[in-house]
This record gives sequence, structure tokens and C-alpha cells, in this order.
Amino acid sequence: MARLPVTVLGATGVVGQRLLRRLADHPWFEVAHLAASDRSLGRRYGDLPWRLPGACPEAFAETRLEAADPRTAFAPLVFSALDTEAARALEPAFAAAGAVVCSNAAAFRLEPDVPLLVPEINPEALDLVGEQRRRRGWKGAILCNPNCTTTILALALAPLHRAFGVEVVLMASLQAASGAGHPGVPSLDLLGNVVPHIPGEEAKVEMELPKLLRSPLTVSALCHRVPVVEGHTEAISVRLRGGPAPEAVREALARWRPGLDLPSAPENPLILHGTEDRPQPRLDAEAGGGMAVHLGRIRACPLLGVKLTALGSNTERGAAGGALLNAELAMARGLLT
Ligand code: NAP
Repeated sequence: MARLPVTVLGATGVVGQRLLRRLADHPWFEVAHLAASDRSLGRRYGDLPWRLPGACPEAFAETRLEAADPRTAFAPLVFSALDTEAARALEPAFAAAGAVVCSNAAAFRLEPDVPLLVPEINPEALDLVGEQRRRRGWKGAILCNPNCTTTILALALAPLHRAFGVEVVLMASLQAASGAGHPGVPSLDLLGNVVPHIPGEEAKVEMELPKLLRSPLTVSALCHRVPVVEGHTEAISVRLRGGPAPEAVREALARWRPGLDLPSAPENPLILHGTEDRPQPRLDAEAGGGMAVHLGRIRACPLLGVKLTALGSNTERGAAGGALLNAELAMARGLLT
């Protein structure tokens, strides 16, 4: 099967590089254009700093960075790893030109006609594409993955929502430095420190989770930046309908098998840890490619009923790998033919 040409917007950033590493040997997709800002225009990709372990994939080293313009860098599938403001202007231009844009940015996530998608949780959200095309007159479409913190939280809660119904969620996060992109938070502000504010993050989690789980649940998020390189940890307390015991909650999480047959889908999106000191970002966030969410310390909560710890890779499950999974679902459902 000929591979589908793709454009990567924001190819030089933290998420863009992870996307390229995943796309280097993807069975369905082949990179045709790399684009970023005017700062990178015309530069040879191999001459730019590669910030992941190992070398820049050979396939991209000679590629010149292009302008993020659909007239010159069009492909039927576009991955957007752009800053939100750039995404607000550029993603619609590519969608209007006929591309399906799989976005990591926040710009369109809460639009009622835009799928906010985690394939294991709400594949039916793709049905919104018809309405989006009708309303906006686009031949293409925009599909969004949620904020990285929301994705990890949603994967931890989706099986519980299905089994019992989630009513109230209190989540305190400890978020990695890579979540802020490159160069992100200045090292002198972060090393040996905790920053109790991530602009816009708490509101994103509080608004995205109800859209994703299609439920008017109450969410309170407390987000912190910590000096961890990769992997967001989340301390979650949850009130579930009927007040199930922690053992029943553990069983519902262990039982959940969404059975998604896509190249980037993890065999099991939830990994339950049995020891009290796991999950930990350094040991678990990137295990097996970083597409699973790790859970541990499921126990009774005097406030809301049950509490647990969740951990996931913000740049993989929460961004690059999540966007790729969305594209694979769109391809499998015939949206890209
Ligand atoms: P980043 O490292 O700062 O990269 C931003 C990218 O956007 C760079 O390639 C940059 O190109 C490009 N860019 C900026 N302004 C542009 C413009 N006006 N026109 C064209 N390209 C432009 O950020 P990141 O962490 O990769 O995040 C990318 C997106 O994913 C953001 O929307 C972010 O919120 C979202 N996200 C990130 C994470 C994470 O864990 N990092 C998780 C979930 C979602 P230059 O190099 O040329 O400046």
C-alpha cells in the first residue's frame, strides 16, 4: 500500500520532533513537508538541534523547512504541533484547502463541531466531522487531541465512568518541564523548585474532561510545574456513582480492554502497578513507547470515595503519539481516502 503523504507543522519543537521520530518508519504515513516559523524557514532539518536521544532520523536530515502555508506545503494529512496562536490562524487554512489536520494545540478543542478525541475513549467523536465540514465549508477538517494532562486523567477515568459514572473529580498534577515546549520554563525558576501555576492549564482540564467523557461532571484541577523532564503525575480523588469500594475500582480498571487495532495503539492503555512507590516518571513514563497510562495506589478517600495516582508521557500519549493515533483512527474510518 502506498503511504499517505503528510505535512508536519511545528516540526522543530518538542512535540514536532517526537512526531518525526514516530513517522520515520510509519506503515501508513510518509512525511512530505516539514514546516515551522519564519525563524526556521529554508534551513536544513539536520542542521537544527535534535533534542531526543540518538540522531535525527536520516530520512529528514536533508529536508528543508518550508513556510506553514497550504499553497506550498499541502498534504492530505497534516500534523500540527504549533503554538496555540499560530494554530488558530494556520490550521483552518490547511483544513479549508482539504487537509485533515490532527492538532496538538488548544485553539479549537472546545469548538462544538470539532472532535476532541482519544480513540480508546470516544471514537464516535469523529462523527462531528460531517457537521464541521457543513458549517465551515471546509473540504478537510480539524481533529484535536486533548491537553496532555486531560488525556492522562481521561484514560484513568474512562473505564470508571463506563462502569459506575464519574460525578466529581479533584486532580492535583505534578507536570514535567517538557510540557512547556522548548526552551520552556527557565532552568533557574524550576530547578529545586515547584511552580504552582501553569497558565491556562487548570481551565483546560476542567473544560475538556466533560466534553471528552460527554458528561456534566464537576472537575477541579490544581496544576504544578515540577523539575521532572518527562511525564505528568496526577493525584486524583474521585466520587463515583454508588460509591464502589477501591477493590471494585481496581477491578474495573484492570478489566478495561478497548481493543483498538491501530499501529500506534498500545496493547493495554492502562498499566496497574501493585507496589506503593509506583508509578514514577523516571521509571514508567516512557516505558513501551510512552502510550500507556500508569496507575497505582488505588485506595479509599475520606473526601470523595476513591483516590489514586496516574502517570503518563505528556509528549507521547499526551501529544505526538495521541495525534498519530487520531490520524490512524481517521484513516481506518475512511476519512482520509
Ligand atoms: P515548542 O517546542 O515551543 O514548539 C513550537 C513549534 O511551533 C516550533 O516548531 C515553532 O517553530 C512553531 N511555531 C511557532 N510559531 C509559529 C508560527 N507563527 N508559524 C509557524 N510555526 C510556528 O512547543 P511544543 O511543546 O512542541 O508544543 C506544540 C503544541 O503542542 C502546542 O500547541 C502545545 O500546547 C501542544 N502540546 C504540547 C505538549 C507537550 O508536552 N509539550 C503536550 C500536549 C500539547 P520555530 O522552531 O521555527 O520557532
